Amino acid sequence: MLLVLKFGGTSVGSAQRIKDLVKLTVSPTPKIVVLSAMSGTTNALVEISNALYSKDVEKANSLISALKQKYLKEISELYSKKESLEKATQLVNNHFNYITAFTLDMFTVNEEKAILAQGELLSTAMFHYYLEETGVKSVLLPALNFMRIDPNDEPDLTYIEKNCKEELKKYPGDNLFITQGYICRNAFGEIDNLKRGGSDYTASLIGAAIQSPEVQIWTDIDGMHNNDPRVVSKTHPINQLSFDEAAELAYFGAKILHPTCILPAQKRNVPVRLKNTMQPEAEGTIIANISTNEGIKAVAAKDGIIALNIKSERMLLAHGFLRAVFEVFERHKTSIDMITTSEVAVSVTIDNTKYLNEITKELREIAIVEVDTDQTIICVVGQIPKDRAGYGHKVMEALKDIPLRMVSYGGSSNNISVLVKSSFKKEALQALNKGLFNYNN
Ligand code: ADP
Ligand code: ASP
Ligand code: MG
Repeated sequence: MLLVLKFGGTSVGSAQRIKDLVKLTVSPTPKIVVLSAMSGTTNALVEISNALYSKDVEKANSLISALKQKYLKEISELYSKKESLEKATQLVNNHFNYITAFTLDMFTVNEEKAILAQGELLSTAMFHYYLEETGVKSVLLPALNFMRIDPNDEPDLTYIEKNCKEELKKYPGDNLFITQGYICRNAFGEIDNLKRGGSDYTASLIGAAIQSPEVQIWTDIDGMHNNDPRVVSKTHPINQLSFDEAAELAYFGAKILHPTCILPAQKRNVPVRLKNTMQPEAEGTIIANISTNEGIKAVAAKDGIIALNIKSERMLLAHGFLRAVFEVFERHKTSIDMITTSEVAVSVTIDNTKYLNEITKELREIAIVEVDTDQTIICVVGQIPKDRAGYGHKVMEALKDIPLRMVSYGGSSNNISVLVKSSFKKEALQALNKGLFNYNN
């Protein structure tokens, strides 16, 4: 029975932080440690890729060299033995030579994905070498041997389960495994990833695959808070959340969790615990198959939303109209987040703009379409029973000065959502912090 512990970018963000991981990971309890890239690395790799897309080789080379210098400095602080430092220098040279090779040839999305994978490959090997130096035995498991997505970019849990277990079977006597978050292979066997912030998803997928007793997400804050601490100044951690509540918060913008990371754990009933690396004694948040108390627990916001108002030229409920509308989105593999309807029109939101032109063109064949960009979904999450009065009122009262583009109530008993212009996001989160949690921001 292996625990899964995931440490995010700040938790491996410097030589000292990597050293500090020892006390959180080295114990007789068998575990798989999933690591992100050092903080800032994936952003730097994105910048390098952007320079290469725009054929600015000089800029790419200077960004590559700056990032390499950072790694050379970190390893010089991390290792005290000559042999470890030599091995790590070789590691850094190899990875940066690999990245540099991409400056010489054509650059496409495949090359970018290969570049983006380097951060996690580096951080995991660096930690593995550090444990080796301190005399702790660990096994570096290559995530690229067992993490896979299918042709729809969805994780292939059957493959992951089979291959992860096979990989682990090779080391029957070991109890400390290290692997890379975020990176995977796609259906063609090429290097790919689980999208930004995807290391949480890796941890949850591994936890589900091996039926772990618990997945722990270690980060820089003491659990899921009631509001976005980057936007409002007063927040508090929530000790317990149900899977459904946590999934809503993650999906609707609580950055502490990757949007879909709860689902695999929920499917296999593996509890997820959020912990603070900088404050390990803090209780954190436990997310499990539990029924939590009635009431509103948290709010979150998701930016980059597009709202489409689709007005039927006849009547909305005319037979087959809604089906025709939804089929357009289905054809273009674009999922809808929020929906509101009236007799003659329906408003929906999407966050994926890849096929927006095609979607609006096809919708205009059957309806009048208006598109609003720069929208934000504000999501209020908790246990909101159908037979209780007052919750809707409380939310609306708090938001009384903010123009609301859409309101969604009753989709589930966990969620009340509103859509606002992104320029009102801060005001909306502050107003809810005051109206729902009595904080003055
Ligand atoms: P990591 O690099 O460890 O994956 P992230 O930066 O992805 O960490 O997630 C942690 C951050 O999420 C916190 O520092 C915090 O600013 C942000 N965050 C946003 N919403 C919330 C929330 N509701 N509760 C806790 N943290 C949140
Ligand atoms: N390193 C990746 C990112 O920055 C994945 C992660 O940290 O979860 O997005
Ligand atoms: Mg994260």
